[in-house]
Amino acid sequence: MLASGSRGNCAIVASSSTKILVDAGISCREVFRRMKLLGEDPRSLAAILITHEHSDHVYGLATLAKKLRIPVFMNGATHQAWARAVRDAKGERPKLEKGERFDSGYGFQVGDIAVRPFTIPHDAADPVGFTFRAEGVKVGIATDLGYMPASVRDHLRGSDVLVLESNHDLEMLRVGPYPWSVKQRVMSRVGHLSNGALADFFSNDYDNRAAFVVLAHLSEQNNHPEIARREAERALATRGGLFQNRVLLAAQTEALEPIRL
Ligand SMILES: [Zn+2]
Ligand SMILES: [Zn+2]
Repeated sequence: MLASGSRGNCAIVASSSTKILVDAGISCREVFRRMKLLGEDPRSLAAILITHEHSDHVYGLATLAKKLRIPVFMNGATHQAWARAVRDAKGERPKLEKGERFDSGYGFQVGDIAVRPFTIPHDAADPVGFTFRAEGVKVGIATDLGYMPASVRDHLRGSDVLVLESNHDLEMLRVGPYPWSVKQRVMSRVGHLSNGALADFFSNDYDNRAAFVVLAHLSEQNNHPEIARREAERALATRGGLFQNRVLLAAQTEALEPIRL
């Protein structure tokens, strides 16, 4: 997890031979800097995958794609929305040298990693989460979703690493500084997942299989890492799963130590 939160999201998923960047919501320079701090070479990335067109997921995309000249995978609606919104320094639409399309719900392959994009409820053109499978390990990523539909719970089943949104504490959001319209958006069925909604998933639908659970996309205004952790751990404990699950918190300003399985 290179960065996570409303000021930029970016993660790396890697097998022993293929390395993928998931979202590019921080600047190219910052991606390079954080990768180097982890001892990773940005030139070793095989592809960039984009979940949806919100700027906290694509801010650095045009520059990264230009610099690395690697395939960028998006679905059609996300690409259209991105292309409409983005302009380069000269005011022109940036072109992706190696734009690749996927369809939500249909798997594709990047190197030896099997990728499965699935639809999530969020106010973007065609937002997705992803699962990744390689070398007998499954990783599931779902952030930016207003709630957890059954289809999403199904896709996440069997994950060894789960990266899930724990966006806000409902009470902090209610009494917090956001204007009412923004509060309504965040709380809506196409907004962001609260600590409580995630805890509900852990208590009722989670299969207790992940070796690591990463809480992601935490709001800096309406959440606190320790509140998110406490709520998640309490819910995991009800399933007796707390000891099997290591709960980690992805941060906005620095990369998380790599998770290795
Ligand atoms: Zn979003
Ligand atoms: Zn986001």
